[in-house]
Amino acid sequence: MAKKWVYLFDEVAAAESYTGSWDGVRALLGGKGSGLADMTRAGVPVPPGFTVTTEACNQFSALDKFPAGMWKQELAALQEVEKRTRKKFGDPTKPLLVSCRSGAKFSMPGMMDTVLNIGLTDKTAEGMIKLTGNPRFVYDSYRRLVEMFGTVVLGIADEAFEEPLKAYKEKKGYKLDTEMTAEDWKAMADAFKAVVKKEKGFDFPQDPLKQLELATEAVFKSWNGKRAVDYRRATNIPDDLGTAVNIVTMVFGNMGDDSGTGVAFTRNPSTGERKMYGDYLLNAQGEDVVAGIRNTEPIENLVQKMPEVYHQFMDITAKLEKHYQEMQDVEFTIERGKLWMLQTRNGKRTAKAAVKIAVDMANEGLITKEEAVLRVTPENVDTLLHPQFDERAKKAAEKSGAFFAKGVNASPGAAVGQAYFDADTAEKMAKEKKQAVIMVRPFTKPDDVHGMIASKGVLTSEGGATSHAAVVARQFGIPCVVGASSITIDLERRVMEVNGKVVKEGEWISVDGTTGEVFIGQIKTIEPKIEEQTELLTILNWADEICARDGVRKAPNGWPRRGLQVWANADYPKDARRARSYGAKGIGLCRTEHMFFETERLPIVQRMILAKSSEERTAALNELLPYQRKDFDGLFEAMDGYPVIIRLIDPPLHEFMPDEEKLFEEVVTMRVKGEKKGLQEKEELLTAIKAMHESNPMMGLRGVRLSIAMPEIVEMQVRAIFEAAADCTLRKIVVKPEVMIPLTGTVKELEWIQPRLERIAKTVMEEKKVSFSYKFGTMIEIPRAAVTAAEIAKLAEFFSFGTNDLTQMTFGYSRDDAERNFLVTYVEQKILPKNPFQTLDRDGVGRLMEWAITEGRQTRLELEVGICGEHGGDPESIEWCHLIGNNYVSCSPFRVPIARLAAAHVALKYSGKAIVEDK
Ligand code: ADP
Ligand code: MG
Ligand code: MG
Repeated sequence: MAKKWVYLFDEVAAAESYTGSWDGVRALLGGKGSGLADMTRAGVPVPPGFTVTTEACNQFSALDKFPAGMWKQELAALQEVEKRTRKKFGDPTKPLLVSCRSGAKFSMPGMMDTVLNIGLTDKTAEGMIKLTGNPRFVYDSYRRLVEMFGTVVLGIADEAFEEPLKAYKEKKGYKLDTEMTAEDWKAMADAFKAVVKKEKGFDFPQDPLKQLELATEAVFKSWNGKRAVDYRRATNIPDDLGTAVNIVTMVFGNMGDDSGTGVAFTRNPSTGERKMYGDYLLNAQGEDVVAGIRNTEPIENLVQKMPEVYHQFMDITAKLEKHYQEMQDVEFTIERGKLWMLQTRNGKRTAKAAVKIAVDMANEGLITKEEAVLRVTPENVDTLLHPQFDERAKKAAEKSGAFFAKGVNASPGAAVGQAYFDADTAEKMAKEKKQAVIMVRPFTKPDDVHGMIASKGVLTSEGGATSHAAVVARQFGIPCVVGASSITIDLERRVMEVNGKVVKEGEWISVDGTTGEVFIGQIKTIEPKIEEQTELLTILNWADEICARDGVRKAPNGWPRRGLQVWANADYPKDARRARSYGAKGIGLCRTEHMFFETERLPIVQRMILAKSSEERTAALNELLPYQRKDFDGLFEAMDGYPVIIRLIDPPLHEFMPDEEKLFEEVVTMRVKGEKKGLQEKEELLTAIKAMHESNPMMGLRGVRLSIAMPEIVEMQVRAIFEAAADCTLRKIVVKPEVMIPLTGTVKELEWIQPRLERIAKTVMEEKKVSFSYKFGTMIEIPRAAVTAAEIAKLAEFFSFGTNDLTQMTFGYSRDDAERNFLVTYVEQKILPKNPFQTLDRDGVGRLMEWAITEGRQTRLELEVGICGEHGGDPESIEWCHLIGNNYVSCSPFRVPIARLAAAHVALKYSGKAIVEDK
């Protein structure tokens, strides 16, 4: 049988048996085509038509002409449509008109726009007038065809058509298109035909088949147009999908007051409320509703105007929603009292609506809980937890005319600040003047990053969702709008302008990175409260249930068989409480050194560091002990029942000392001025600090190395931990302390330090006459530790991957330098797929982790494994942690909800799949 290139809307079964799945049908017929075919099958009124397949498009791209047999099939399909509509293409007595609509598998901006009214010619126009008795409608439709055909198919600039129309209206003294009479539109149709002739050197085709052929070809060609290709690159849509062409019998909403057209969502796309949401216009055609030229009516008003149509519409859309189990976004047209559906697709929605719709649909029994969890994205959760504009304040701002521009919503969140037009000024105003700053640029480059980081938000007039500004802003979680192309930025005069509205440098603006809108002035923002977002909490609880299922990971004994737990990095009790309220099941990293920096403690710490003898040092440490004990006490109390990992002191000691240069200046000044008081102490301090100087402190005396050089510090810390844990136990709080030794490189380090610390732990428990379980373990952040994990696990009862340092040391990058100097270029040049400090490098760092876990568990089957680097809150990295057998991920409290959802997603994605070969 010859290859089938064309499917009538009622041939969906054939498409299904050819492709073998619904997904295959969507790929073959595109989203729009498969929707039209599916609706036709369900008995929904769809104007007769057909789809030319994406395969034909791909063949066209390869051959640069229609594949053999395709055009013949298209003509045959057209004849079928003629039969069903009892009209004839090109026949003035009963003309058939069609629309030509592109439609790829995924909805994709950049593809060819729709051309309506194909089939109108000088001759058929006359016929249509006889038929309808409405010359104004016919000439309006005709000039629309010539204009759409001219711009979309023939590639003539819009202005070439806009200008003659404008001039004509001016001459006649008209303001609105509605003032145009039949004669006027006839004149315009002629003028537009003249434009085609002038621009292209040939006449607007009077052969309807030629119109159809050229339109089909134009859709195919648009697949490889620059806009479409750019979009696919940016969104990773493969090039070989191709687009389909849909030819649909025209139905007219502009045939009088018993006609109309509209668009609607089956649920509110902004709040998620279960209520039809949409607009319609009587006596109007397609684009009029979206174009906003006339005031539309809310869909519920249709019930008064056309009750039967309204009820039929409600029935159909309810059926569609049930069928697709998804909120639908539909287009419809009413022609002389008869309803026609022109499109259905899954509706786009806000984060808030996404969560509510998912929960509602699960509760309605339309989808499962698992499906509901899968429908919410980590980005949705992120958006819901970012500060947002107060909706009412935003509406009020809109009303008062504060709206300025709209661009691409590149990085979510609301930002309010004063506009500055270059990176240096932005940074200076933010740092020196402590101002809230929005950095505004036409576009950004790598040497603008410092200004972006210092800003509350970023706005550019050029570039898309993957431009430099967008990528960097997302990377640093800064709200960002890019490509607000209506804005003209004048860097000389330091102003930006949209249609005469001017914002001077330094004036306040509000940028909504979630929606892409920009306003003049300050709009009130609100910090979202998770406890008030009931639906989000429901989704997250379902996510936890999924992760807690035994067997979602198939693994040998000892390895985790449930999904990942989510813990949090928290240094203070208040962070721990927040983490817990966000659903953390433990503390994966408490950095104890933060506790040393507090004003009352720092002098004691410095004394301790400068101590000349072990006794002197111990004395200072004894002063610190009560402080630390109190810190830990609060943490254990906040995390009652959950494990708390406390990392022993990690940074090099010079971080706790005054700045060497500054101190040197002070000493010199005092000497010059002859000031004696306090000089000697300062001089001694300076000598001590100089002695501590290291050329690369981050790779010097720190972590476990420091503990071996000065064990008194960690001995005090362990005593504080266990005294606090004992006290809490006596207060009936369930404690699970885990002591983490940082920066281990060889097991010998652990052999040296760990037994001393364990002795202290035992002593304290004996002193206090209590017992509780505890663990000693280590951070894996030096490649050597990962490689020798089998040895390390002899002492360490748990591993926690410190992937910030592990990434630095595996790549040999210093993070700050890399991010400042070359990472953006590396990602742009595709030397690295992503910033490895943001998303775990699976091939390098990730494999080290996998090796460490496998080797570690060979020594110690019950080894507890987690991650405490920033990657712990990144969905892609979380997936890797699931696959290699982590017990948990630990991240910042704010990212805990995102991580919980991401953990459930990966658990569902790989449910029941083995994570390591059973031995
Ligand atoms: P888009 O993908 O931009 O929505 P569409 O192909 O859906 O483009 O069409 C644009 C507009 O034209 C829509 O309002 C649609 O309803 C209308 N339209 C398309 N085909 C027809 C038709 N055969 N009859 C009436 N209106 C149509
Ligand atoms: Mg559409
Ligand atoms: Mg580290």
